[in-house]
Amino acid sequence: MKPDRNKITGFARDYCVAKGKKFHLKDVDPKDTGKLESNEEAKELLTEGVKLMSDMQEKLYAQGRWSLLLIFQAMDAAGKDGTIKHVMSGINPQGCQVTSFKAPSATDLVHDYFWRSNVALPERGQIGIFNRSYYEEVLVVRVHQKLLKAEKIPASLVKKKHVVEERFEDINAHERYLTRNGVVIRKFFLHVSKSEQKRRFMARLDDPSKNWKFSPSDLKERAYWDEYVDAYEEMIRKTATHHSPWYVVPADNKWFTHLVVAGAIIETLDSLGLAFPEITAEQRKTLQAARNILKK
Ligand code: ATP
Ligand code: MG
Repeated sequence: MKPDRNKITGFARDYCVAKGKKFHLKDVDPKDTGKLESNEEAKELLTEGVKLMSDMQEKLYAQGRWSLLLIFQAMDAAGKDGTIKHVMSGINPQGCQVTSFKAPSATDLVHDYFWRSNVALPERGQIGIFNRSYYEEVLVVRVHQKLLKAEKIPASLVKKKHVVEERFEDINAHERYLTRNGVVIRKFFLHVSKSEQKRRFMARLDDPSKNWKFSPSDLKERAYWDEYVDAYEEMIRKTATHHSPWYVVPADNKWFTHLVVAGAIIETLDSLGLAFPEITAEQRKTLQAARNILKK
């Protein structure tokens, strides 16, 4: 039997936060698998999901009106890279671009913080994926105050207490602006537990084929776990909106993470009423003429 499309999108709905006010991170269990017990069923659903995405992406591209921006944020080793790879496996690379945002370069630092992401926004008809994003400005920059100093914003504009609040405001305004221009934004926080992160770090140390993934800075950031949890929670509370919701995705089981993200993308594309562009009578004539020439 063909897996049910509603089943795939249903998982995503359960983890969608469109109104942040009452959100508590502790209400989402990183180990949750939405009552799905086996990896096998998830695989079937994911295969079907990837196919659905692929069909809809073709229409998104052909229509060239909307663009889709997918933002991924998470603690280290939560599985951002793997999720992006899996979920996008059926997508035409010509219609999709992934941008990873690392610590800002010297050139980035002489601009405002949206500058580097503005140039990476997806064109109409395209899917853009941000692996980390301007949300780092209310995460790592909040946890490590010295990073804010490095941004060289005039001192009179930077009052520590207000700066985070102002950034939430500006991010909301920015996302509303993009939404009004046809950029559909969906944000994913991959919620991994501290114990699972430890297990994955250990695997990176023990398995020679994973050694390259380990960075000593990951361990340094782990020491700030609680500060990050608070920062993530507040970020979701302040920036989850109806037009630009956060999905808080359980991330201790990778197969489930992939499924929830796929479900969210399918539901979003579905809501756009995508269709191939209509052919006008004039265009139909041109097609007929071309057919006649080819027939000769
Ligand atoms: P991986 O899974 O491969 O480790 P990653 O996304 O963690 O991927 P890294 O190169 O390890 O990539 O880390 C990127 C670092 O850049 C993160 O520590 C992140 O917090 C930092 N970073 C991203 N944006 C900013 C920013 N605006 N200001 C300061 N640091 C930032
Ligand atoms: Mg890292």
